[in-house]
Amino acid sequence: MTDDAGRREQYAAIFRILAEVYGRPVWRSHGPPLDELIGTILSQATADVNTARAYAELTARFPTWEAVMDAPPEAVSAAIRSAGLSQIKGPRIQNALRHIQRERGELSLDFLAEMPLDEALAWLMRIDGVGPKTAAIVMLFSLGRPAFPVDTHVHRVAGRLGLIPPRTSANKAHDLLAALGPPESYYPLHINLIHHGREICHARNPHCHLCPLQDLCDDYLARAVRAADA
Ligand code: SF4
Repeated sequence: MTDDAGRREQYAAIFRILAEVYGRPVWRSHGPPLDELIGTILSQATADVNTARAYAELTARFPTWEAVMDAPPEAVSAAIRSAGLSQIKGPRIQNALRHIQRERGELSLDFLAEMPLDEALAWLMRIDGVGPKTAAIVMLFSLGRPAFPVDTHVHRVAGRLGLIPPRTSANKAHDLLAALGPPESYYPLHINLIHHGREICHARNPHCHLCPLQDLCDDYLARAVRAADA
């Protein structure tokens, strides 16, 4: 299934089946966009539980984002140690805060709610260490704007299913996935693809025998054809 209409049909069917299996997650704001940005930087390359612990520690030690921005770098790194890579994430967070302060004169990203989506994503990606995934997460999770974040699970599962062409980079996949379905589908499908990647479509040894998407999966169908030919 490779043409655009075929991919849109495939997207709609995958959306429906995953919603039947895992439920349909309902969007609610995760909080102010600046909080989401800091949390997302903390979450890079670590598990959710570590992110939550580091975020709680950071906000307990520093009462405001201004205090984080002005703190000694080693104090910020110490506060976020449980998130891992604290010597990278600490300076990244402080640089992001300085960037926002310099550009906007205050530590707030609330203005992004009113900015056209492409401009808002581009604005965020001018911050060092902020790529398409982080920018899309801030826009979707905090503000409910129609961006489709692609993390490692979404990238892997969408690639196997054939929703994105082979060897599509994660950075390119954001726009390709967003083009396949309506904006209100982005949040629930993003969450359900992650769920599916964690539960069934593992990076190594996907549990295809348990997967409700076999008939919609390019990778599975290609393997089935090869096995039949052997
Ligand atoms: S059939 Fe296998 S490879 Fe395809 S989505 Fe399901 S678990 Fe992943």
